[in-house]
Amino acid sequence: MAQVYDHGGGVRSIEVPIPDNPLGHTLVYVVDTDRGPVLVDTGWDDPASWDTLAEGLAACGTAPAEIHGVVITHHHPDHHGLSGKVREASGAWIAMHAADAAIVRRTRATRPERWFSYMADKLTAAGAPEAHVSPLRAARRPRSLPGFSPAAPDREIVPGELLDLPGRRLRAIWTPGHTPGHVCLHLEEEHPARLPGHGRLFSGDHLLPGITPHIGLYEDPDDTTVTDPLGDYLASLERVGRLAPAEILPAHQHAFTDAPARVRELLTHHETRLTDLLTLLAAPLTPWQLAERMEWNRPWDQIPYGSRNIAIAEAEAHLRRLVKLGRAEAVAGSEPVAYVAV
Ligand SMILES: [Zn+2]
Ligand SMILES: [Zn+2]
Repeated sequence: MAQVYDHGGGVRSIEVPIPDNPLGHTLVYVVDTDRGPVLVDTGWDDPASWDTLAEGLAACGTAPAEIHGVVITHHHPDHHGLSGKVREASGAWIAMHAADAAIVRRTRATRPERWFSYMADKLTAAGAPEAHVSPLRAARRPRSLPGFSPAAPDREIVPGELLDLPGRRLRAIWTPGHTPGHVCLHLEEEHPARLPGHGRLFSGDHLLPGITPHIGLYEDPDDTTVTDPLGDYLASLERVGRLAPAEILPAHQHAFTDAPARVRELLTHHETRLTDLLTLLAAPLTPWQLAERMEWNRPWDQIPYGSRNIAIAEAEAHLRRLVKLGRAEAVAGSEPVAYVAV
């Protein structure tokens, strides 16, 4: 049975399961418009998830074939996975920010082998031991890899503009950090229960009530720009805090209020983490060595392979922020490059 929740004012959510994932589900929002329902995100591409989405839509009095449009907060497969199927069933448009649409296009065009060799080079440069890197060098095209043929969007979400949702006011707020093209969507309408604040905000993975979203690197085999995703994220958080929406409708967990308080918690969390890292960087460390010493939800030797790669990217994002703030620097001539507090 699909779990459906009525948020009032023509907005409902459906819990669409993410198989084998501790997050459990993605909240797919169904927004009524004058031309039919519009979805905010679609959920993981899996037969059971699709069935749940269809059941949930039936409980909302509609069906996949009735969907008018799909608005995607960011390209991750737990958000964009089922978009192609929804479009096939209904002819709906799919809208996404240009930066994430570029990732989708690249993912569709890039052979997995190229991706594996890019990752292997990157991990070597971060100081990963050969035992960690060699499986990637040996990897060949897998039979199927989720997320390697995401649906190409057909509309661009332009920051600051109202989306084309007949009868509704939904404005795109660009919130890069978790991905370069992550957007939050501000429903500029009075809260149905008249809660104080400014409208409601579909926050995707940007602002969640009980989880800190992963901030890694904007992995791009074709781009050598030194981006600062953590800096982007912190700036985007402040932006959303200033909006002061009456209620946050996130893509995981549950709806909540007092966005500014949650924003403050997250800013404090990251400031504490950066300060802790500076302590670790009293002696030079490679990103790999830093990740080994950082605090995770379990000891480093118990972190599975894929999660370690995510952890390295998170360590690198923090290092970039510290370098940009002038609080750490690369040790000249070190290979792989090591960083030290200044
Ligand atoms: Zn995500
Ligand atoms: Zn997510």
